[in-house]
Amino acid sequence: MLTLKAQGVLIEGSPEELRKELYITRRAIQYIIDCLWELDKLPTINQLHQIFYKLLRNQGFRAHQSKQIYKYARAIVKSARENGGKKPILKKLSARVDKYDAKVDLKNQIVEVKLRNKVFKIKFLHNRDYIRKFNGRKWYEVIVSIDSQGRVRVSIPLRRIYRPYRLRKLISLDINLKKIVIYDGEGIRRIDTRFIEALSLKVHAEMIQKKYSRMWRYNKRILNRIKSLHRKSRNIVLDWSRKFAKYVVLKARRARSAIVLENLNKLWFNASRKSSSLVDKLSRFAYRKLQLAIMTKAIEYNVPIIFINPKDTSTTCPRCGVKLVYNHRLAMCGKCRFIADRDTVGVVNIYIRALRGMRGSIGSPLNVLPMKDETRQREETINEPMTAHIKTYTST
Ligand SMILES: [Zn+2]
Repeated sequence: MLTLKAQGVLIEGSPEELRKELYITRRAIQYIIDCLWELDKLPTINQLHQIFYKLLRNQGFRAHQSKQIYKYARAIVKSARENGGKKPILKKLSARVDKYDAKVDLKNQIVEVKLRNKVFKIKFLHNRDYIRKFNGRKWYEVIVSIDSQGRVRVSIPLRRIYRPYRLRKLISLDINLKKIVIYDGEGIRRIDTRFIEALSLKVHAEMIQKKYSRMWRYNKRILNRIKSLHRKSRNIVLDWSRKFAKYVVLKARRARSAIVLENLNKLWFNASRKSSSLVDKLSRFAYRKLQLAIMTKAIEYNVPIIFINPKDTSTTCPRCGVKLVYNHRLAMCGKCRFIADRDTVGVVNIYIRALRGMRGSIGSPLNVLPMKDETRQREETINEPMTAHIKTYTST
C-alpha cells in the first residue's frame, strides 16, 4: 500500500465552504461514535445502515458519503475498544470520500470531491515527479482535510497487490554505465544505455564551473546554464531507466521469466567505494534509479525479481568455478579453457547464481548451463564485436 500525500489548493469551491463541510462531517461521525459508545455490542454494518442511513441522508449527505460516515465511526469505536481506550473525540477536520463521490486525475494533478451538494476541485501543490510515481495505480478513496494551519491536504491510499507469477525461465542483467547485457539462457543481447550522454552533460557543467571558477555562483546566466545541464542529465537517466525497465519487464513477462539482478545496494553504500568522481557519482545514481525503475515496473506487472550476491561475478569461470585470467576484456579459464568477454562472464554468472539458488524448481541447471558448443555457436551468429574477439582468439 502506498499513500499519496499532498498539499492542495482549491480551484473550485471556497475554503470556507470546505471547512463547513468538513465540520458537518466531523459532527455527524462524532454523533454516531457517541451513540455506539453507549452500546455494549457493536451493531453490524447492516444494522448501522438501518439506524443511521436515513438520518444522514436527511442531513444532506450523499448516499456513499453516509455509508462512509457510519462505517468510519464504527471502525473508530471498534479500535478504541480493542485498545481499551476512552471514548474517541475527533479533532481533525477531514472527510473520507469514496470512488462514487471523487475523481482523481493524477495526470493533471487534480482531485474532485463531492461533499453533500458541493463540489470541490483541488489541485496538488507538489512536484510532478512525486505525483507521477502514483500514476496508473488503483485508488479507492480520497481523504480531504484542513490542517491546523488552514492548509488543504489530500491523501490517497493506493493499493498495489504484488503477486509474482510462477516463473519458467530467467533473464539476467549485467548493468554498467555504457551498456546493459541481457542473457536469457540462450542468447546474449547488449543494449546501449544513455548514461554516457548523461555523464557528458555533467562533465560539461563541471567544465563551465572550472572555467568561471570565481563567478559562476554569482552570475545568474552561468548558474542557470549549469543547473540546466544537471537537470537534463538527471532527466536522461530517469527517462531511459523507465523505458528500459518497461522493455525488460514486458520481455520477462512474455516468457514468464524472473529478472535476475545483482544486489548492488551494498556497493553503493559501501563508504570505501564512495568516491566523488563524476563517473562514480553518476554510476551510483544511474544504478539506483535503474534498479528502482525495474522494481517498480516488475511490481506493476507481477514479474518476479531475484537478487544475487554480486561478489566475483566477473572473475569466476561460469563453467567450472575457478578464477579467470583476463587479457584486456577477454577472460580465460586455465582449467576448462572457457573463453568469453567480460560482459558475457558477468551476465552468465548472474544467471547461474540465480539458477543455483533455485535448483530443482525450473529443471536441472545442467540443461541450461550455457557455453555448451551449441550455445556458443548461436552466440556467434549475433553480429557483434565481441564474437569477433572470440573468433580471432580461438583461431590463433
Ligand atoms: Zn573453467
